Amino acid sequence: MKLKDKVAVVTGAASGIGREIAHTYAREGAKVVIADLNQQGADAVAAELGGPSKAIGVAMDVTSEEQVEAGMAKAIAAFGRLDILVSNAGIQIVAPVDEFTFDKWKLMLAIHLDGAFLTTRAALRQMYKQGDGGSIIYMGSVHSKLASVLKAPYVTAKHGLLGLCRTVAKEGAAHKVRANVICPGFVRTPLVEKQIPEQAKELGITEDEVIKKVMLKDTVDGEFTTLADVAEAALFFASFESNALTGQSLIVSHGWSME
Ligand code: NAD
Repeated sequence: MKLKDKVAVVTGAASGIGREIAHTYAREGAKVVIADLNQQGADAVAAELGGPSKAIGVAMDVTSEEQVEAGMAKAIAAFGRLDILVSNAGIQIVAPVDEFTFDKWKLMLAIHLDGAFLTTRAALRQMYKQGDGGSIIYMGSVHSKLASVLKAPYVTAKHGLLGLCRTVAKEGAAHKVRANVICPGFVRTPLVEKQIPEQAKELGITEDEVIKKVMLKDTVDGEFTTLADVAEAALFFASFESNALTGQSLIVSHGWSME
C-alpha cells in the first residue's frame, strides 16, 4: 500500500474526479477527508470508504475563508495529521467573453483560485508544523496549457494554478512539501455532461459534434480520459516522496496537449 498511515484531504470529492481519487487513496491505505460543498454527498462517499475510522465527510465551500479554516481544522483533528491535499473542487460556466457576467467571472476565480489558495495555506501551516513534508496536488486541466472558446475564466484560473503550484514548490522545498498540477483532458463527469448540451447550443452544432469536433478533436485516438487515469496520476504525485518531483504539471489527456 503506497499511502499507508497518510492522511489526505480531497476537495470536491463528493463527485467525479475527486471521488475517484478518494477511493484510490483509501485503497492504498490513506485516511481520507472528503471536503465538499455538498455535505450529503461527502458523507455518502465517506461511508463508501468504510466510515469514520477510514474517511469522513466535511462540509466546505472552498471560497469561504471561514469554512476552509473550520473544515481543515476538523480534518486534522479527525486523523491527527495531514500529508496530502488535493485541491480539486471546481465548476464550469461557458459563455463568450463579451457576454460573461462579472458575478460569474468572480465566482469561477473564487472557486478555482481562492479555493486553491485557502486550502493550501491551511495545509502548509499543518505540514510545516509536522516537519516531515507533504504533497499538494492541484487539479488543473489541459486548459492550464491552452485555451478554448467560451471558457475565459476557467482557462485563466487553470493557468493561474501553475503559478501558485510553482511558488508553493519553491517555498515548501525547505519543509519537504512538494506541489504539482494534474492536467486532465475531458473526463465524463457531471461537470462535462452539463457542458455538452450547453456548448451545442452556443456553437450551433449537435451534441455528438461537440464530443467529436470540440472535446476530443485533438486527442491521438478520439478517447475520453477516464476517472481512473486521473486518479493514478494523483496517486503518483502523492506517493512520490522527494523534491525531485515538484513544481511540475502532468498532462493526462490522450495526447490532446503535448506541451
Ligand atoms: P464534478 O462536478 O463531478 O465534481 C465537482 C465537485 O466539486 C462536486 O462534488 C461539487 O459539489 C464540488 N464543488 C463545487 N463547488 C465547490 C465549492 N465552492 N466548494 C467545495 N466543493 C465544491 O466535476 P469534476 O469533473 O470531477 O471536476 C473536478 C475538478 O477537475 C475540477 O477542478 C475541474 O475543473 C477539473 N477537471 C475536470 C475535467 C473533466 O473533464 N471532467 C477535466 C480537467 C479538469
